[in-house]
Amino acid sequence: MKALFLDRDGTVNIDRVYINDPRLMELIPGAAEAIALAQRAGYRIHIVTNQSGIGRGIIPPDVLPLIHRRMEELLRLEGAEAPDSYEICPHAPREQCQCRKPLPKLILDAALRHGIDLSASIMVGDKVTDVECGKRAGCGKSYLVRTGAGSKEEALLRFTQNPRAEMVPDGVFNDLLAVVQAELGD
Ligand SMILES: [Mg+2]
Ligand SMILES: [Zn+2]
Repeated sequence: MKALFLDRDGTVNIDRVYINDPRLMELIPGAAEAIALAQRAGYRIHIVTNQSGIGRGIIPPDVLPLIHRRMEELLRLEGAEAPDSYEICPHAPREQCQCRKPLPKLILDAALRHGIDLSASIMVGDKVTDVECGKRAGCGKSYLVRTGAGSKEEALLRFTQNPRAEMVPDGVFNDLLAVVQAELGD
């Protein structure tokens, strides 16, 4: 089984810093089409997301599933199926947990649970920490997108001297749809 691991905020939906209400969920143009194309090509979709707003008390934990149901409604309206799973780090950074990206645990756990071949899988996100998470987990490819924080991250990376290998994406694309189109070769 191959998977497309997707960061959520800034990659699939518009980043509103803390989405604590389903009404704040809005897909990035082309994201649903990208997910639908990947699903038709046999990729499982796993959302891999740091939601520190839970640990900080800004996002009520019981609202998160409602936010994801809203995301699924919006995806279905554009022909995509719901993701196969949501891998969530609910911790604030100061909790120093073992799952917050760039740590690879969320991806590694999902791979075990769902029988995913990581070397055939792809991680996509709008931050260098997403790229690093994918690389440390052993994903075949880890890509940065310029949506969300991506353009800024790309610029920061360009001015970083001797970035660690795990920070350097295998490619930078304008958005998720461009990633999927390039991967599927059209
Ligand atoms: Mg993001
Ligand atoms: Zn965590």
